[in-house]
Amino acid sequence: MATNPTGISIMENIIPPDSLPSPSDAPASPQLPSVPPNTPSPSSSGPPSTPYPTLGQPRFPSSALKHDVTMPDLPEKGEGESEGGQRQSQVSLSASAKSAPLLQKNSRKRGPSESGSGRIDPGTAFPPYDPRFSLSLPSSQALSAAPCQLPLDDNGRKKIVVLGSGDFGLALTTRLVQANYRVAVGSRDPDRSRSKVEAAGGSPLTHAEALRESVVVVLAVPFQHTGSLPLGSLANKIIVDVSNRNPKDRDSSGRSQAEHLQNLIPTARVVKAFNVLSAYTLSRGIRGSKEVPVCSDDSEAKQLVSEIVKDLRLDPTDLGGLHSAREVEEIPFQFFTEWKFGVILSTIIWCLMFIITLFRSQLCSNLENMQKPNFTWDWSGFDGIVRDNVSSSCAGTSITLLALCYLPGVIAAYIQLVRGTKYSAFPLWMDTWLKGRKHIGILMLWNAAIHAILNLSYSMGSVGFYDDTYSWRGPTYVACGGFTLLLAGVLGVASLPSVAASMTWREFSFVQSRVGWLILLLASCHVIFNFWDGLIKNHFACYFLPSMAQLCIMLPLLTLVLKLPLLMPCVDRSLTRIRQGYERVSVNSLTGV
Ligand code: NAP
Repeated sequence: MATNPTGISIMENIIPPDSLPSPSDAPASPQLPSVPPNTPSPSSSGPPSTPYPTLGQPRFPSSALKHDVTMPDLPEKGEGESEGGQRQSQVSLSASAKSAPLLQKNSRKRGPSESGSGRIDPGTAFPPYDPRFSLSLPSSQALSAAPCQLPLDDNGRKKIVVLGSGDFGLALTTRLVQANYRVAVGSRDPDRSRSKVEAAGGSPLTHAEALRESVVVVLAVPFQHTGSLPLGSLANKIIVDVSNRNPKDRDSSGRSQAEHLQNLIPTARVVKAFNVLSAYTLSRGIRGSKEVPVCSDDSEAKQLVSEIVKDLRLDPTDLGGLHSAREVEEIPFQFFTEWKFGVILSTIIWCLMFIITLFRSQLCSNLENMQKPNFTWDWSGFDGIVRDNVSSSCAGTSITLLALCYLPGVIAAYIQLVRGTKYSAFPLWMDTWLKGRKHIGILMLWNAAIHAILNLSYSMGSVGFYDDTYSWRGPTYVACGGFTLLLAGVLGVASLPSVAASMTWREFSFVQSRVGWLILLLASCHVIFNFWDGLIKNHFACYFLPSMAQLCIMLPLLTLVLKLPLLMPCVDRSLTRIRQGYERVSVNSLTGV
């Protein structure tokens, strides 16, 4: 089989090289890759990623991710010197910010309302303005002089304030204390919350007392109660806003709660962080993703908070300015948004298949005989509705979805060959389809498993998988089906981030492409050997409805047939070059015609 210069067979073009991490992304030695091998690629340059999603993929909206910047390494802790010559070991960020060209420049933008009273737009769902606030606002000069450092206690522990002794405040306090922070928990009634705060390792204080402890304040109070906090004392502080927002509560301005907070306290440095973690996972140890999106208009404050995130052994992801909070604070409320396309597609296919089998197996004979005298409905066909209709609809949906996982890769290859470049964007429908493949793959596995379970349970009774007339075809088709399911399972497991992380780029692309194509081939053989007779012969019935086998096999065969020309060495070579960045420049474009 022909191989391209990257050493990857042309068979793997179902996931073109540019949609998988390039060999340059892969480690030089067969060590674990530093990035998950299935890192999605920009859809504009080629079919992205694999048929399966990985749980470790960023959960952040693409529009937010476009603000991504790399977080530079911070200087060693303890660089600062206190005024009295006392060693202060503060986490000083100003110096590191200067030496961090990759970080955004201090992009602190003042909204229109910030220049004035700090009031927010009328009509927003923000808490009422606190008159104390206007009395205590420092000048903007005072703000620029404000330190962006965590003070230390006598034992060298960094001091931080958490306002609110609720579930989240206490869970975060526990984690901070474990990371050797000294946490002052500000509460409306410290005596009432004393036992639970002390159990978490924090010091229960009033709001005013707590706010004197540190310049960094985590606001762990439900957003709607922000107005009852001493906002004036929050001026000039670095406020970590952990609040979440249900999209239903979005106001007409579209601004995030963090932006509202920034508008209300213009001299504060508001940083959105920690909101994607739940109190439950914080207190019990995080087993899933450790990514914590951090965004702020103040790069120094953002960097300081990122450092705190790192201290908690979590991974900060810089999502740019505070406007990103609009999406970040809605992340916990997302509900299978990325699955929509796959689920809708698979439901439509399943329903279509079910209706067709229902007509063919149960309804048609009744409809055709309706005109006959003494007609009565024959309900006997409905006995086998689970095996004949549900199971076969799952089978049909499964193989169709499998073909739909691989067909867009083939179409993308043809588009790239015709255009002579991988740098032109695909149409939107194609883009959606390519991105949806991951979930389509999982749904394929789901349907195949239901089909296998149902058929197996029926075969346990009197009805077997096949009778004597099948001869060698019987065991062959069952074996093909079994191997299809087995390999589809392998493909799914290989997509899990923990498994994928233990594979080299080449191993990963081998499983995702070659094994994937093998599954499609085996699944097609499963159908062909089972329905040998009825496949080619005119097997239309009931107003020319095709049989389930005919329905099932169409798309897989089309995909396989379209794939064949791409396997030819000359075509493979051109495609590989295009996917490595070569662009075929037309004479017209050179002459400017
Ligand atoms: P919670 O359990 O209801 O606790 C909130 C705390 O805020 C209360 O214990 C209370 O502390 C204080 N509080 C309540 N009403 C107040 C008022 N009128 N004025 C001043 N303080 C008041 O809420 P939570 O679950 O901890 O959530 C806190 C914040 O974290 C929210 O913004 C939420 O969106 C965010 N968050 C929560 C989770 C989670 O898993 N729970 C996850 C991510 C983000 P005192 O009695 O000590 O004053």
